Formats: sequence, structure tokens, C-alpha cells
Amino acid sequence: AAKEEGKDRGSLYEPAMELEQLRLQAMRERIAQALQRSHLQLLFQPIVYIDGLPGLHGVAGMEALLRLGDTDELIEPAKFMHVLDDPQLARPIGRYVLDEALRCCQSWMRAGISIPVSINISTRHLLHPAFFIDIDAVLENYPGVMDVGFGIEVTETGPSMDHARAKVVIEECRRRGIRVGLDDFGTGSASLSHIQKLDIEHIKLDQSFVRDILDDERNMAIAAGVITTARMLAKTVIAEGVETAEQGDLLASLGCHQLQGFSISRPMPAEAVPAWVAGWVPPASWGSLVSERQS
Ligand code: C2E
Ligand code: MG
Ligand code: MG
Ligand code: MG
Repeated sequence: AAKEEGKDRGSLYEPAMELEQLRLQAMRERIAQALQRSHLQLLFQPIVYIDGLPGLHGVAGMEALLRLGDTDELIEPAKFMHVLDDPQLARPIGRYVLDEALRCCQSWMRAGISIPVSINISTRHLLHPAFFIDIDAVLENYPGVMDVGFGIEVTETGPSMDHARAKVVIEECRRRGIRVGLDDFGTGSASLSHIQKLDIEHIKLDQSFVRDILDDERNMAIAAGVITTARMLAKTVIAEGVETAEQGDLLASLGCHQLQGFSISRPMPAEAVPAWVAGWVPPASWGSLVSERQS
């Protein structure tokens, strides 16, 4: 490991950088161990329709979010983002998430709730030569899930992105009936014309635009423009990071199709999903905003 670290030492080498390297390496080892000892778990955050109905018909799906730990003290991906795209670990992590997410979806079906599930795919795994071996294995193991709906969220940032290859992989996913969405839209370089070419079904408007949509006119203009253009291209727009009812109301009035965020629900354990879905009631304000826009 000392030799590998040495490679990164440029003229700007400082002890603090070495400490940071050690910290990153320690987290990498922790995840590698967690994979072996099942110390990882998924939480699920609902994505809801703005014009949906109470209960199952108002919920578009559940996004799986990875956590390290098997107790109440869970560590969020911010602490291990670098590991998610690690050349050795991206695929094992991805396989765990695939298997666990579809297993949970199947368990909700057994509880009488047919709700689509989506997962985040690292670029490293998406472009891995064995990606479809992993995909096809879970589709075979959990056959009912495809009827309910299975989606992946990809990001176009990251050093390992290769757009030509991503296009082929996305087409191959769509051929299998997998819904493909682009995460964190607006933060990277992807344009809407690019999304059209890549055959992406939905985009997730990044939290950074949603966060101060009420106070910052420019962010509001960007959000409005993205939503309008995406609608004309027949793409679904999901706003992420909706923390307040006011943000949700504004996004609804702008024509956003689906919302996700703490104001709707924080991520929850799989066991809590069926009851949450059954109890979901969309805010009354969304309905009037949607009909106002359409009239
Ligand atoms: P993401 O896919 O864009 O997920 C949204 C993140 O925002 C999640 O953080 C979620 O908990 C958080 N969030 C949701 N609603 C709100 C809100 O109203 N306010 C705020 N401030 N935050 C909100 P999380 O779970 O920590 O995940 C962070 C990122 O880590 C994800 O961003 C995704 O890029 C990555 N990630 C998570 N799970 C996985 C996974 O299984 N595999 C891979 N490759 N990446 C994952
Ligand atoms: Mg996501
Ligand atoms: Mg996102
Ligand atoms: Mg994100």
C-alpha cells in the first residue's frame, strides 16, 4: 500500500495529504469487511407523484440508499463516496445493493404492496464488463420485480464515465425493461439533448436547485427551464431534496412530475415501507396547483 500511495505524491506532498490517504484507505477496508460480514444495509426513500392519489397509487417508487453498519448508528455514503467507485469494490457493492433491493421489493409484494424499486449504480459498475451478468442474475432470482418496476439511477460525472459505452449499456438496460434515470441533473455537463440521445426515461433535478428555489430567482429559473424542456421531450422530472411543503408546492406549479425529499419522508428501513405506502396522503395543495397549470 505504501508503494501505491507513493505514486500519488507530487511536489505538493504534505503530511496532511498522507493522513487523508490513510483515512480513505481505512474506510475502503471497512467497506470490504462490511461486505463480507453483512454490515451494510439499505434504507428506502419514497418518490411520489404530484398528481397521484392516496396510498399505493400516489407513490411512484422507492429509492434504495446504502448505509454502512448493522445497528442504529448508520454511516451515510458521504463518508465513503470514493469506495462506491473503487475498481475492486464497486462491483461487489453493486451486487449487494441489487440483490438486497430486489429482495426487499419482493417482500413488499408478499405484503400486498406492488411498488417499483430503484437503485443507484456507480459508473464503475455500469461500465463493468460483467454488469449484465449481475443484472440478469437478480432478474432471474426475483422475477416478479420486473412486472412491478425496476429502475437504475446513473450519474454522468466521475472520471470513469465513457458516454459512448454508457449509451450502449443504457439501451441494453431499456431492452430488459429497466427504467433508467439520470441523477443529480444540472450539476454535471449533461444537457437535455444528451438525455434524449441516451434514451434516459427520467431526470432527477439536483437538490442544489431545489434547496433555495424559493429565495434564489436564478435557481428557480433553471428549475423551471429544465422542467419545461424535459416535459416537451416527454421525460419525467423528479425533484430531489424537497425539504419543505413550500418547495413542493412551487415545484408542483412548475410542472414537475414527481417529488422526493425529507418533507415527504426520510429514508426508512424496508420493513417500514408497506405501512408508509398504505398511509401516504398527498398534500391537498398539490392537486389544485396541478389543475391550475393544466387549465
Ligand atoms: P442521491 O442518489 O442523489 O440520493 C439523494 C441523497 O439525498 C440521499 O443521501 C438522501 O438521503 C438525501 N436526501 C433525500 N431527501 C433529502 C432532503 O430533503 N434534504 C437533504 N438535505 N437530503 C435529502 P444519501 O443516502 O446519503 O446518499 C448520498 C449519495 O450516495 C446518493 O445521492 C448516491 O449518489 C450515493 N448512493 C447512495 N446509495 C448508493 C448505492 O447503493 N450505490 C451507489 N453507487 N451510490 C449510492
Ligand atoms: Mg439517486
Ligand atoms: Mg441525486
Ligand atoms: Mg446525489
